[in-house]
Formats: sequence, structure tokens, C-alpha cells
Amino acid sequence: MNTANIFNIQKFSVHDGPGIRTTVFFKGCPLKCLWCHNPESQNINTQILYDRDKCVLCGTCEKICHKKAIKIENNKLTTDESCDCCGQCVIYCIQGARQIAGKVYTVDDVMKEVLKDRVFYEKSSGGVTLSGGEPLIHIDFVEELLKKLKDNNIHTAVDTCGAVSFENLKRAAKYTDVFLYDIKLMDDEKHVEFIGMSNKLILENIIKLSEIHNNINLRMPIIEGVNGDEEHIIKTIEFIEGLNISKVNLLPYHDIAKHKYKKLGKVYEDDRMSKPSDEKMQKFKEMFENKGYKAKIGG
Ligand code: SF4
Ligand code: SF4
Repeated sequence: MNTANIFNIQKFSVHDGPGIRTTVFFKGCPLKCLWCHNPESQNINTQILYDRDKCVLCGTCEKICHKKAIKIENNKLTTDESCDCCGQCVIYCIQGARQIAGKVYTVDDVMKEVLKDRVFYEKSSGGVTLSGGEPLIHIDFVEELLKKLKDNNIHTAVDTCGAVSFENLKRAAKYTDVFLYDIKLMDDEKHVEFIGMSNKLILENIIKLSEIHNNINLRMPIIEGVNGDEEHIIKTIEFIEGLNISKVNLLPYHDIAKHKYKKLGKVYEDDRMSKPSDEKMQKFKEMFENKGYKAKIGG
């Protein structure tokens, strides 16, 4: 039986494809984008998030932890590696200072959940979006899920970073109505610096995908300090010429996920990134429109 670690099934999503959608967020991603707004998605394993600001150091979690993984010393709570993410401390913490990210689902578990909102998909021409993390690293699960969604006449979208084997994209393409394909940086050196790997595979894959699929929405985060320059837009426009790109979404940077980094014990490097101006976003949008692309600011 195919299973996958999923950290959220978000209902009434309106930024992840057409209409009202349910978005299924998978854990695990080959990229490490500095600005990632789902940092709990990067690790494929289940994780415990801890909010120091909500914790009153009552000691309940320390007492109930069956692994003795939690220690409170000198007004500081730590959780060691023996934690098996059983989730008991999350249930017992009445302050809501502990959260669990990740739960193993079967395809039928997900189908049961997403079918509850079928009426909203039908009324709004919406559907189900697979996102993450990178859904296509769970290809056996994703292929089975997409097929079941199509068997139920539900519109499907796959939000991908493209940094996977092309075989995985090909298997998903058969049952995917629209791909939301992220291109973050055209400059490969910067790609390595800000994302942790080369963009070569991502760019090769979108060319190949365009040969077998005719509905690809390009998703481009725009971040001042990373890629908020005209050169990046010009290079992207040159690169996508001749590809089957049906729409371009320009996504201005925001830092609303900053708090999650703290809860995961990670550093958020916000001094390197900022929001681009509205004027700049408008200009970038017009640059795509002038080349005949349908472009939108936002998802
Ligand atoms: S139970 Fe919650 S509030 Fe109490 S020590 Fe643990 S994390 Fe802090
Ligand atoms: S998730 Fe379970 S094992 Fe981990 S710290 Fe909480 S109670 Fe202990």
C-alpha cells in the first residue's frame, strides 16, 4: 500500500490553481530555498515544532514523554534526538506550544478527506492541488492519488519545483490538468547560493515537460536581494520562448512564515531578503504581457 508523509490538507485554498481547491502538502523537498514559506516541508520526516513564546515551562510534557526526550533546565526546554514524534506532548500541552508536522496517510485517507469538499470544486471549477515540499518525490503515491482524483472527475494541479527525475513528471503528467512549475533563479551560481543546488535539472525538465503537456503555469517568487532584477525577468522570458506556458504568476516575497523557523530551531535570514515594490511587480508583469503571456501578480 502506498503511503506518504503529509503535513497539511488545506481546505478552501484559492491561490493554488483555479477555483476553490483543497491543497495537499507533502513533506520532503530536494531544494532548500532561503525564503521557503513551508520550512516544515523540507524534511521528509515528521517533526515537532516548539514555540518558546507560548511555553510556560509547566513541565507536563517532560513528565509524560515516554522517551524522556524533553528536559527543562535553567528555564530552558530542550528536546533530544530520542524523540520519536509520537505526538503525546502536543496533546498534553494546553498552551499550544508544541505542534506536530507530518502524518502518514494512505491514498484512500487523502481521497476521503478531499471528497468532502467536492461540491465546492464543482461550483467554482476548482479541484485538488498537490504541493509541498515536493509532491513528486512521492511518485508512487502521487500517481495513484492523481488517477483516483481523475476517476472521480476532479480537476488536478501539481505544484512542483521540477528538481526530480523527468520520469516522475511524466508519470504524473498523465493525470495532471495543470502544472504549477516554479522557476526561481535563472543564474545558476545564485541558484546554488540561495537554493542549495544547480538549476540545470529544473530547466531541462520544464523543456521536456512542455513537449508532453500543454498546461503549465510558471510560478516565480520575486525577492528583493535574490532575484528582484530585470535581468532575471529578461533571461526567463528568453528561456521560456517556444515553451507551452499558459500563464505566469509573479509571487512577491513575504515573511509570514518567519515564526515557523524559530519553532523548528532554524535561522531565518531575513536581512538578505525583502519585498519588491508594487511598481516593480507591475513592471515585471508588463514585461511578460508585452511578450504575449497571460501574467498575474499573486497566485
Ligand atoms: S507542556 Fe507545553 S507549556 Fe508545559 S513545558 Fe511543555 S511545551 Fe511548555
Ligand atoms: S513527540 Fe513524543 S517522544 Fe517526542 S518529545 Fe513529544 S512526547 Fe516525547
